[in-house]
Amino acid sequence: MCSECDFYVCPDGCPNAVADKNDECELCGSLIANGEEYAEDGEEGVICEHCANQMDIDDVLRICEVASVMELLGDMGRTRHAI
Ligand SMILES: [Zn+2]
Ligand SMILES: [Zn+2]
Repeated sequence: MCSECDFYVCPDGCPNAVADKNDECELCGSLIANGEEYAEDGEEGVICEHCANQMDIDDVLRICEVASVMELLGDMGRTRHAI
């Protein structure tokens, strides 16, 4: 039970209410089905698996919040400095 409103599912207005997650792909507008894999774009947006696989590298970098491919690879531990 919520300590703020005493409901099990918080109504709108309760500080603990969970905002409905936008489950429409922001690129093609199709609904993400239960069990379907999708990518998150920031806090709200979602991108369906199909569109995610079609994204330009620029879009991939944007949703990964990195400036360059090297930074993305660096986050994955895949960059090295030549000695
Ligand atoms: Zn509540
Ligand atoms: Zn889509």
